[in-house]
Amino acid sequence: MKNTKFTQELRGIFAASAKPLTVADILGILRLKKLRPNKTTIYRQLEKMTRAKDLEHVHFESRGLGYEKAREHHHHLICNSCEKIEDLVIKDEQKMFDRLLGRKEFKAQEHHLEIFGLCMACSR
Ligand SMILES: [Zn+2]
Ligand SMILES: [Zn+2]
Repeated sequence: MKNTKFTQELRGIFAASAKPLTVADILGILRLKKLRPNKTTIYRQLEKMTRAKDLEHVHFESRGLGYEKAREHHHHLICNSCEKIEDLVIKDEQKMFDRLLGRKEFKAQEHHLEIFGLCMACSR
């Protein structure tokens, strides 16, 4: 499969997915479409798209590294029971970090924040 066509395919998959996907998830979706690139090829392409800011990393506790379409800065609420994932937008987040890091001699470049717990349905 040509590289550009592969990129298109991956863009389509991420546009259609409401939740972050791991390399294993993508491998499964591509198999259903009768496409069989190997894991390394997928991983390389995803990293390339992440560097180009098409995608962003998501760090799962249980499933490892995931990817999702880049959009408004947000975090995640992840259910430990059913693995439902909800976006979390923190109001005045920059102010919060300014307060946290105010006295530290450290220049933050990126951060990841995923909160694990139980969704409404699972906590009943
Ligand atoms: Zn943030
Ligand atoms: Zn749940």
